[in-house]
Amino acid sequence: MLVTVLGRYSPYAPAGGACPGFLVQSGGVNLMLDGGNGTVSRLQQQVAAADLTAVLVSHLHPDHTADLHSLQYLMAHQAPDREPLPVYAPDVANPDRHWLEPTSFGARWIRLLPLPVDEGIAFGHVRVFFARTDHPEPCWAMRITDGSRTLVYTADTGTGVDLAPFAAGADLLIAESTFVAANGQRRKGHMLAAEAADLARRAGVKRLLLTHFSPHTPIAEAEAEARAVFPAAEAAVELRTYLV
Ligand SMILES: [Zn+2]
Ligand SMILES: [Zn+2]
Repeated sequence: MLVTVLGRYSPYAPAGGACPGFLVQSGGVNLMLDGGNGTVSRLQQQVAAADLTAVLVSHLHPDHTADLHSLQYLMAHQAPDREPLPVYAPDVANPDRHWLEPTSFGARWIRLLPLPVDEGIAFGHVRVFFARTDHPEPCWAMRITDGSRTLVYTADTGTGVDLAPFAAGADLLIAESTFVAANGQRRKGHMLAAEAADLARRAGVKRLLLTHFSPHTPIAEAEAEARAVFPAAEAAVELRTYLV
């Protein structure tokens, strides 16, 4: 299984960066996780529109969805003959979900569906499970397995929900690490780098990728803070592909 970082920043990206998005690939299955500002452009550098299997949206905050409205046009122009692209998003009463609805033009290419948070979902040999996180907007972490390797993505979360059982034993944990302890910033529903590392340590994962950085978070400090708790930690690098 491969995962490519399309964007790692929130709530806005610094020059040249992008907000959260990941491409997960295994044996012909290509899943996009979240679609923040700047990610759809980068997606096209990694996979053909016709080969995208589905999009999974963790929650409806705009830093995770802003680019997804344009998918209908991407599909119409670059994959006009394909089946509609399934976009799975939490079925919650948030008017921002409307942003993901295709227009009458785009309905031929996009099918907006509820994120199957209770039962999980399979795309061929790739199975995805969900767990509710600690975040002001209803948000779900994802556990993705292809039968041999397992990736867990926390999406946005604070420490009010213990995701360690859900992430247990993963080959790679991608955990949000919006702030570092040193600069004194903290916001409810987000983690410090040391908290992401503590989650990795308790879950017994093999490796940790830190992501969802504030543009004002010093990334080297985030890595150092995390490594003091969990040595196999590193900052996610945009447009880098990782072997899970
Ligand atoms: Zn959020
Ligand atoms: Zn976010």
